[in-house]
Amino acid sequence: MTQTIEESMNHLEHLKIKYTDCLKHPLNLNIKRGIPSKEQLQLSEPMLNVLSSPTDFLSQGTIDIRNYGELTGISEAKELFSELLETERDEILIGGNSSLNLMYLVITSNLFAKIKNQTNKKRVKFLCPSPGYDRHFAMTEKLGIEMIPIGLNNDGPDMDEVKKLVANDPTIKGIWCVPTYSNPTGVTYSDEVVDQLASMETKADDFMILWDNAYLVHHLTNEKKAVKNILTACKAAGNPERSWMFCSTSKVTFPGAGVAALGASKKNIDFIAKELSYQTIGFDKINQMRHVKFLKDKNHISQHMDKHAAILKPKFDLINQKLMHYFTGKDCVEWTEPKGGYFVHLTTQPSCATEIVGALAKIGVAVTDAGATYPYGKNPSDNSIRLAPTPVSLEDLDAAMDAICLCIEYITLKKQQSL
Ligand code: PMP
Repeated sequence: MTQTIEESMNHLEHLKIKYTDCLKHPLNLNIKRGIPSKEQLQLSEPMLNVLSSPTDFLSQGTIDIRNYGELTGISEAKELFSELLETERDEILIGGNSSLNLMYLVITSNLFAKIKNQTNKKRVKFLCPSPGYDRHFAMTEKLGIEMIPIGLNNDGPDMDEVKKLVANDPTIKGIWCVPTYSNPTGVTYSDEVVDQLASMETKADDFMILWDNAYLVHHLTNEKKAVKNILTACKAAGNPERSWMFCSTSKVTFPGAGVAALGASKKNIDFIAKELSYQTIGFDKINQMRHVKFLKDKNHISQHMDKHAAILKPKFDLINQKLMHYFTGKDCVEWTEPKGGYFVHLTTQPSCATEIVGALAKIGVAVTDAGATYPYGKNPSDNSIRLAPTPVSLEDLDAAMDAICLCIEYITLKKQQSL
């Protein structure tokens, strides 16, 4: 039913009164970052006690994990992560607690190695499917790499755009990919996209696919998505050195005290291990062993992740219910219903997102900055908002969603009526 001008002005006035009331009674809620809740962290508390007998400190029954050594990780951890990332044992390097750290290592190692031999130091560029992960973009910017935004469809990056660019520009050296339950839109790459990334012609012969599979086991439903293996696809296409796969247990066990892994061709792993040897004598092998004993294998990880999902799913359901309640039949906003990962993504009307996020901040609801999920923090359409509901209780999320829906409707109508 369409509203008359008078009705819609009255409705806007009503929203303004509600918002003004919220200004007087601000909340104190933060759904900015994708971090696990306390209940999720408790799931992994038993891991802290799995190493008890002296033999628990031996890798393969002989190597004392309390001592230096095993730069690329203990073999038990390699077995676990090679099962997860579907690689051979010598195609895995186990890192410290952070996969971002490994991404930084891979990029800098590759760029510095090449720069040493390069006479013509042209500017390096990376393709950045957007919206994407803000820390990828921050890292890229910090390293002085130029970012080229690329459209992100429901099955992965816009491959027509990608293929055209990489075929012609030798300074495009890489692409960021979050292939499973992408941060923030929740998309999972199709097999066709994986194959095209693996086989496309690139002008740069050292082109890198940075395959950040941060959410590979983070399903929310029984429809568990599995992305095609990029390393296998790259090998099949004759480009075995093109892909670099990353994952970590930050959101499986403990962020900050998990274990990260890199999967790549043996040649690439050997290259990175050499670079790494100048930085450390080895990572925390005791933590690697704790993880192996606690997580056991892929099947057991899946059971553990089901417990995470049982905590998280009601939060994602609540967001969907609230948005349906407020916006069914209205054109203020579109939203994702992810099958995994940590985020819900809102697409607002153009030029509204920054103002909505600002209005929310004033009433005590912190969400990720509107442009943060785009290179240089700039979304030309200003229509993207990321919600990270995992750390808050259902009760707080309920209150946050009422505030979010109010601000979306109020700001959108205010803008429309001022036109
Ligand atoms: N990649 C993506 C896509 C993420 O969303 C996150 C966490 N927010 C990370 C990497 C961080 O991973 P780690 O803790 O292993 O550095």
